Amino acid sequence: MMLEILRHIVQEVNAAQGLGDALQIIVRRVRDSMETEVCSVYLRDPISGRYIFQATQGLNQELVGVASLAPGDGLVGLVAEREEPVNLENAESHPSFQFVSGIGEEPFHSFLGVPIIHQRQVLGVLVVQQAQARRFDESEEAFLVTLSAQLAGVIAHAQVTGSVDIGIETGAAAAKITGVAGAPGVAIGTVVVVTPGADLYTVPSRQAADRRKEVRAFRDALQNVREDIQVVADNLGGELSSEDHALFDVYLNILDDSALGAEVVARIKGGEWAQGALSQVMIEHIRHFERMEHSYLRERAVDVKDLGTRVLSYLQEADQEVISYPERTILVGEELTASTLGEVPREKLAGLVSVRGSGNSHVAILARAMGVPTVMGAVDLPYTRLQDRELIIDGYNGKVHLNPPPELRARFQQILDEDAELSRDLESLRGEPCETPDGYRVPLWVNTGLTADATRSLEHGAEGVGLYRTEVPFLLRERFPSEEEQRQIYRGQLEAFSPKPVTMRTLDIGGDKALSYFPIEEDNPFLGWRGIRVTLDHPEIFLAQIRAMLKANEGLGNLRIMLPMISNVAELNEAMDLIYRSHRELQQEGVQGELPPVGVMVEVPAAVYQARALARRVDFLSVGSNDLTQYLLAVDRNNARVADLYHSLHPAVLRALADVAEASRQERVPIGICGELAGDPGAAILLLAMGYDVLSMNATSLPRVKKSLRNVPLGEGRALLAEVMAMDDAESINARLDDFLRAHGMEKFIHTPLA
Ligand code: PEP
Ligand code: MG
Repeated sequence: MMLEILRHIVQEVNAAQGLGDALQIIVRRVRDSMETEVCSVYLRDPISGRYIFQATQGLNQELVGVASLAPGDGLVGLVAEREEPVNLENAESHPSFQFVSGIGEEPFHSFLGVPIIHQRQVLGVLVVQQAQARRFDESEEAFLVTLSAQLAGVIAHAQVTGSVDIGIETGAAAAKITGVAGAPGVAIGTVVVVTPGADLYTVPSRQAADRRKEVRAFRDALQNVREDIQVVADNLGGELSSEDHALFDVYLNILDDSALGAEVVARIKGGEWAQGALSQVMIEHIRHFERMEHSYLRERAVDVKDLGTRVLSYLQEADQEVISYPERTILVGEELTASTLGEVPREKLAGLVSVRGSGNSHVAILARAMGVPTVMGAVDLPYTRLQDRELIIDGYNGKVHLNPPPELRARFQQILDEDAELSRDLESLRGEPCETPDGYRVPLWVNTGLTADATRSLEHGAEGVGLYRTEVPFLLRERFPSEEEQRQIYRGQLEAFSPKPVTMRTLDIGGDKALSYFPIEEDNPFLGWRGIRVTLDHPEIFLAQIRAMLKANEGLGNLRIMLPMISNVAELNEAMDLIYRSHRELQQEGVQGELPPVGVMVEVPAAVYQARALARRVDFLSVGSNDLTQYLLAVDRNNARVADLYHSLHPAVLRALADVAEASRQERVPIGICGELAGDPGAAILLLAMGYDVLSMNATSLPRVKKSLRNVPLGEGRALLAEVMAMDDAESINARLDDFLRAHGMEKFIHTPLA
């Protein structure tokens, strides 16, 4: 019963047209379902910090948008300050009570206020009041708390959407959306919204360039769908019951010009393009059906959605070639993927914003390799409405700014200019070795995946490849590449870097890397069928890959093979057997070449504890700190909600890194690291001090790391390491590292949050 009511309210609020409408629904529905006399919402004004009386049922409507309370003032301020409910039998006798003239609270004695909290921020306060002096009971309080927790996200979203719409008309209403840092850097550019396939919910709102043409396109699409449905109905012919036949008639009626058609056309004539008009009308109808009490009718929402999607596909087919990318494109999408990045010419791609995903999602890693500032997990961004708008993205701090005031825009332009200057400075280091002032030489390698990475990496002074992610070419295709196709791709990489070493990792799919042609559906993909687990279960895939690598290596000899996600010795032994077998067979087939060095990634806590046993069986170890951090801290690297728990410099992570280095030293096996941590100028100092032989990172980070290591004598790095290893929390370690960089003239490598 309670659950039903909650579900209904949240659904209705979700379907509201804008913030005002949403708040109206909340106050009305809460008052009715709790049978109280008053329900009001106060929202925090981000500029003044005051709580503004935004909606009410039962108090004076004329003061809506006018009355307000300072933080800490009155009972509303008290709820906000304490971040917990306040439940009173007699409000006016409470010391915090403040009389707001004209609001009309006098007749109401009992008061229950709960905070509305989103991402740890108090957005406002939800209040119910009653004339009868009584305490609201426990279940009422629990109801309001539950509702408020669910509505917080919806309200936050509606607030940002509101400032987007206001901004179109007035250029005012600055909004800042918080996401997660994806790739460092700042970008100011124009939004292009990415829509994957036909999806009514992701169609951006856009002005029609030629209304008559849009109406024609819509009518053509409608006609096509009608014909398709007629064909289906005819084909099924006798197999349909009369009821099913009736359903087809209903479909055709919905599509009729006089019904849905007329609504969409009216909207196009009002200035919206055909895709936008169609999706807006369809979504309204779908919501209408979804709200029906009768389950049969509720399910019809699916049919309406299907119809709309069909019409949309036809429209999108006809519209296909129209995407032209502006000079400084900011790609914005629900879930950006590696292949969408490839569609924009690199010189036009200024930045990326993904609503889903987090800082160590693979698309973020690719963006870092390409040097494209990126914000991930911007969950409150109403991205479908942003087409052609100017946006500032702050990839250092994971923030997106909409309608920024001129001073803020100027500040970001200044950072852009400073960054460009730093890059020019660093360029002069390209030919220089990475050597500490006390003469300690460290090879800096790169992580690659895209073909274009090779040129960029060499330009940045890479001395080898520590991680070639072979899954990237797999992700960009529609089927498994054949052995020969793979050989050619691998040959390209090996040749581009020859004679420098290239470490190729065997296919690492699963987790957040799904191949469209080999879907893996699991509840816990990061703990599931991933990396070596998949390829050992499919030796045909593993063997084809190893054979392709060995063939590509013929006459070059710079290949190294690396195995991902090893969590026990048996997996390693099995993989080694397959590698030996391929090598033997190829020799019999006349392919020349020694067996290349083989190494293991240490990216699962079990591998940390077994580092010596693993090291004894291979030629090198390489720590995958991205996964190791996620597994050690039990924090999904892909989930924005827990992004602030993903501490790359958590003491547990540092301890594990140091232990693996020590194990490899005892076994006299070289140790490298190829996670993103290696690309952090401060962390690199610590890794060197721990004894890491090779640091492998994205090409963009390489010049910064080189600069940092050339600045700090190894002896000093060791002292710093000893200091931070004695610390108990990531915050202190980060702060100490920042101080250290500052003291060595490297404040440019620290980015403190901006406005
Ligand atoms: C890692 O986990 O640190 C790593 C380098 O592999 P990936 O990021 O591709 O999972
Ligand atoms: Mg990994």
